[in-house]
Amino acid sequence: MLQATVLRDDIDEIMPGVVADRRDFHEHPELAFQEVRTAGIVAERLRALGVADVRNGIAETGITGLIHGTKTGPGRTVLLRADMDALPILEENDVEYRSQTPGVMHACGHDAHTAMLLGVTRLLMDRRDEFAGTVKVLFQPAEESPPGGAKPMIDAGVLTDPKVDAAFGLHIDQDNPVGVVELRPGPMMAAADRFHLVIRGKGGHGAKPHDSIDPIVIGAQIVTALQTLVARAVDPTQEAVVTVGTFKAGEAFNVIPDTAELGGTVRTFNAKNRDFLEARIETLARGIATAMGAAVEFTYTRGYPATVNDPAMTELVREEAAKVVGADGVRHAPLMMGAEDFSYFLQEVPGAFWFVGSQNPERGLVWGHHHPRFDLDEAALAIGMESMVNVALRYLGGESTVESRQLAID
Ligand SMILES: [Zn+2]
Ligand SMILES: [Zn+2]
Repeated sequence: MLQATVLRDDIDEIMPGVVADRRDFHEHPELAFQEVRTAGIVAERLRALGVADVRNGIAETGITGLIHGTKTGPGRTVLLRADMDALPILEENDVEYRSQTPGVMHACGHDAHTAMLLGVTRLLMDRRDEFAGTVKVLFQPAEESPPGGAKPMIDAGVLTDPKVDAAFGLHIDQDNPVGVVELRPGPMMAAADRFHLVIRGKGGHGAKPHDSIDPIVIGAQIVTALQTLVARAVDPTQEAVVTVGTFKAGEAFNVIPDTAELGGTVRTFNAKNRDFLEARIETLARGIATAMGAAVEFTYTRGYPATVNDPAMTELVREEAAKVVGADGVRHAPLMMGAEDFSYFLQEVPGAFWFVGSQNPERGLVWGHHHPRFDLDEAALAIGMESMVNVALRYLGGESTVESRQLAID
């Protein structure tokens, strides 16, 4: 209990600096793989703090650093991750720290994630005598831009040298008020894929449909048929989405065009439904088009996989977060149809991802992620840092060895 009190005092002390960092990043947002200024500040700060083996330029702008504990123990390595990128959105907030780059905005809270992990690094550097093993801090580019920054960082070897045993990350959460932490074991966020269809018919005069093969009518049949997949072919106790977001065809009201193009997104939580929908969308589209005399070009692009929390690591986070916000403050997260590339880390090592409520209706901080008026209650930064420090110390503390097991995605 004494330790927790001291940690909270330290957080109170560094909070003005962490808030200043967050506002500085907010004022200077950078898009995916262009986080040069942000990464420069992060690397400089890590080196100034005495973090070991600071490596930058990983997957363009990614950074890692090591904090070695001095306690004797099993010597495991835990990875803590923050994402650094902003979004192509014109900020509508009238605050003194508003974006100085027109059309680019930290509208998801990654400015807060970066500032928090810098704060966590500082707190853990001061607590090296409290843990055995190593904390690897990781700042990644391009979470908002699939295929994203996590995968190329993993491909570049960030989970080795030293080998990472577990990975943790968090996200600011404008769907919940400050003081609420949410997560769930198993799948929590969806896999997000996209598909594209080109229907090749035969154009002609609008008054002579019998001389043409109308790709608009065929496309309409396909759109309708695709909506039966989730309703009629996916297990109703499981969640999935198929949305057609684009349907482009034709230039003139009295002309049947040659082609129609459809684009859409598919969200699933397990490999079975993901494989099934990928195959069935193609089968349906080809079958309908062929039956009606047209040809189809089909492209399916897999985005981020589902974010799957390890049950034991989820429990660890739940217990440590409860020390920060109380047991009532930690809630079971609903399934989320959004995607997150922290999922790639969780495919490789056990770990967990959690949400830190940041909404404050009394102060008008109610706008959601990716909204031009998105802003957060910075009190959430203290909760995020304290929960993350607790999780790292607990994982490396030695005494509470939680059996970890990676949940198979069936
Ligand atoms: Zn986002
Ligand atoms: Zn985000």
